[in-house]
Amino acid sequence: MNYMEMSDRVYFLNQHYEKVGALELLKDLEASFPSLTLVSSFGAESAVLLHLISQINTKIPVILIETGKLFKQTLEYKNTLKIHLGLKNIQIFKPNPELIGKHDPTGNTHVRNTNLCCYIRKVEPLERALMNTNIWISGRKKFQSESRKNLLLFEIDDTRIKVNPLVNWTKEQIDSYYKENNLPEHPLVKNNYLSIGCFPCTTVVKSGEDLRSGRWRGQEKTECGIHANSIYS
Ligand code: SF4
Repeated sequence: MNYMEMSDRVYFLNQHYEKVGALELLKDLEASFPSLTLVSSFGAESAVLLHLISQINTKIPVILIETGKLFKQTLEYKNTLKIHLGLKNIQIFKPNPELIGKHDPTGNTHVRNTNLCCYIRKVEPLERALMNTNIWISGRKKFQSESRKNLLLFEIDDTRIKVNPLVNWTKEQIDSYYKENNLPEHPLVKNNYLSIGCFPCTTVVKSGEDLRSGRWRGQEKTECGIHANSIYS
């Protein structure tokens, strides 16, 4: 599909699914796109999408990028949700050892160059993980930060389509969904880690701050790079 065809398709999808609920949308996508893949951080709000897809097909691929800098609680939470939701196809992708050896041999690149660190630990592994996929699901929502307030349901992501089924959900809807469906929380949420990535680049969120303000605190950086190619069509 060339860029114009992709753009037309994404425009159509945004119009067509504008008022369709997340579960219905995901059911349709699962039926239409055999390579549909969920990318999950197994973070503070991740259980909603994982629960939704578990109701459709527990074999939908779920990708976790294990950067080597994740909290141990995140890896434990992944195991908890795998059992709780019966997920059968969690795939873990890790950084390329050659790139780590070349660019981060001491494991401290995040201190001097977060973009390079995110590239070798997140972007490159995700590109490998999505090599045979033409559509992937992300958990981003408008309410999470100023930089996400213009997100659309469907986006062009380089040569793929990216879908954000929860884009218009509010924090209250997320919290209610957890309660109604008895979903376990990430163990760090109770300590006010409200957006959870790698441990060197994640801090607690204070009252009144937006949910992603604890990520790369003190830097202009707001995204790790895996969403850098997205075009809001
Ligand atoms: S979030 Fe921090 S530690 Fe993780 S890959 Fe990016 S810069 Fe490196």
